[in-house]
Amino acid sequence: MTRTVYVNGKYLPENEATVSIFDRGFLFADGVYEVTSVLDGKLIDFDGHARRLARSMGELGMRNPIATEDLLEVHRELVRANGIVEGLIYLQITRGAAADRDFAYPSEDTPPTIVLFTQNKPGIADSPMAKTGIKVISIEDQRWARRDIKTVQLLYPSMGKMMAKAAGCDDAWMVEDGAVTEGTSNNAYIVKGGKIITRHLSDDILHGITRAAVLRFAREAQMEVEERAFTVAEAQDSDEAFFTSASAFVMPVVELDGAAIGTGAPGPVAIRLREIYLDESRKVAI
Ligand code: PMP
Repeated sequence: MTRTVYVNGKYLPENEATVSIFDRGFLFADGVYEVTSVLDGKLIDFDGHARRLARSMGELGMRNPIATEDLLEVHRELVRANGIVEGLIYLQITRGAAADRDFAYPSEDTPPTIVLFTQNKPGIADSPMAKTGIKVISIEDQRWARRDIKTVQLLYPSMGKMMAKAAGCDDAWMVEDGAVTEGTSNNAYIVKGGKIITRHLSDDILHGITRAAVLRFAREAQMEVEERAFTVAEAQDSDEAFFTSASAFVMPVVELDGAAIGTGAPGPVAIRLREIYLDESRKVAI
């Protein structure tokens, strides 16, 4: 099926949508993105994603080409046009196309490029992987130092995924100065003695929108949360582990570098948080 996508103010069939070869997203990875999930044909955590998008652009001195209400309307129109019940909306904004390749930013009046498309993913809420849990390896974190900005420079996370695949695993947790930063495309957690432990917010990690919601729900459910760095050894010795992201929600992690975590099966905290997150998010989806 040909998708309807959105490019610079127009809804087009995917095979007619184009951007310039001079686009700075293409030449310099000079762009930011967001991924918002869709459940029951509605957007999950849209406001959080819109706020983080504005922040990412602000940190890079990029002009925001679209008001949040209009962005919401584009998301909704793409959900409608493509009949998405469960899936994802990918949004990317770049600093646009200058007349030539130049490291210096183009003039302020260069229009940013904005692209959105849908990914149809029936069954994401009922993912079989959430029932078995996933396996991860640890790798050195070799990304740049502003991971709080959600840029499209995702080559190292892609390399990390390939390293995980080569090791027969599903994902990689990245490690810096002996402590886990985050997964290639998710925030990482362990549970020890009933306490949920996840790295504190800083420039070292992306401030996950799902992370914020899950920690809020955990605290509301009287679960103890500690925001601090943890090591691979601590994770291997924990009772359970999981990760969060907009596309996978809460996903149990059952093995790290070949060592089973806890019983080697999804733990009760991850299972419960996944249920709470899905239930509560559906209630307020827009
Ligand atoms: N960390 C990284 C590096 C990510 O790429 C993502 C997902 N894009 C996350 C964390 C999770 O963020 P969110 O919950 O907002 O999807």
